Amino acid sequence: MDTAGKVIKCKAAVAWEPNKPLVIEDIEVAPPQANEVRIKIVATALCHTDLYHLFEGMETELFPTILGHESAGIVESVGSSVTEFQPGDKVIPLFINQCRECRFCRSPKTNLCDKGPIGAHDKLAFEKSRITCKGKKVLPFMGIGSFSEYVLMKQIAVAKIDPAAPLDKVCLIGCAISTGFGAAVNTAKVEAGSTCAVFGLGAVGLAAVMGCKFAGAERIIAVDTNPKRAETAKVFGATDFVNPKDQNKPIHQVLAEMTNGGVDYSFECVGNVEVMRSALESCNPGWGVSVIVGWTNRHDFAARPIQLIVGRTWKGSLFGGFKSKDGVPEMVRAYLQKKIKVDEFITHSKTLAQVNEGFELMKSGQSIRTVLNVSSE
Ligand code: NAD
Ligand code: ZN
Repeated sequence: MDTAGKVIKCKAAVAWEPNKPLVIEDIEVAPPQANEVRIKIVATALCHTDLYHLFEGMETELFPTILGHESAGIVESVGSSVTEFQPGDKVIPLFINQCRECRFCRSPKTNLCDKGPIGAHDKLAFEKSRITCKGKKVLPFMGIGSFSEYVLMKQIAVAKIDPAAPLDKVCLIGCAISTGFGAAVNTAKVEAGSTCAVFGLGAVGLAAVMGCKFAGAERIIAVDTNPKRAETAKVFGATDFVNPKDQNKPIHQVLAEMTNGGVDYSFECVGNVEVMRSALESCNPGWGVSVIVGWTNRHDFAARPIQLIVGRTWKGSLFGGFKSKDGVPEMVRAYLQKKIKVDEFITHSKTLAQVNEGFELMKSGQSIRTVLNVSSE
């Protein structure tokens, strides 16, 4: 059936309110307008940021929402003035725009874009949403909302990828893999022969381990409170594993003793301000670089100024520093050329209707990534 130009009625997992299971509902997705693309979602993974929004970071006024931002799909139809995409193209929706024209896009120093906020997840985006359920507007999370059979995107937030790419795998490049890998390669610019520590070994942290290894790090110390992550971390290149719970002294002291004074690069991939401080303190006082990747918008962090004065650098990394439209197709190519791992991150696959089971697997630490198979390619 030709759906172009028509409202599509389809299924989505709707979060009606914080702290409650998602509900599979019939929703309506409007046709794309100028510079927009409507995408049939084939696969979407569950990221900790979805869970965080549902249980901790939530503002009640931003519900109902459709979560999900790590996805891949096929263009169903395009709005007027869209020349870059055609129905049938394989694509990955992006939570950072890349318009290629603004002062941010023209600067090599940032991956932000001036055309709208990151992920467009605010009241204004809510008012503008053209997705409805039971007569109510629904906010697509981070400007995507991929726990749905169809999404509506601005063309500056869509990356066209190699048609050979398996969408149920490369969906992970839409968030976790690019985020962690890029934090090491683009943000920290890890040097060959260096020593690194990665705190938190979910998909983001494991991708950071993979990035450190790719950059030629000699020693990569993986840190997690979940002992099951020791073996997994090795698969991605970790040389050592430390469980902070097994230590009788602070973790930064343990790492300093293991590395003659501190690591060259550390990465916080948990989203906990205490761990951010530990990661900073774990790096070499003279030249260590610590990168914050984990997400929280509810807490302030602390450190003593002297810890930076002596020579450490504290940085943050959003989407691994990748300019989204350029970086994602490159990462997909790197996967097809077997330069980076993707399949190894996927521990579970489920259907859209099983999304709540996916959250349970994440909460209990059993999964690295659960992929929801939404529709066929
Ligand atoms: P995840 O829940 O799968 O993994 C987190 C890991 O941290 C788990 O293995 C857990 O056992 C471990 N952990 C918890 N407490 C710890 C502690 N005190 N010390 C060491 N390890 C600990 O999460 P994920 O999907 O990999 O995401 C990681 C973080 O990255 C989240 O905060 C997420 O919101 C954030 N994130 C940031 C960006 C970005 O652009 N900066 C993008 C995506 C995700
Ligand atoms: Zn994410």
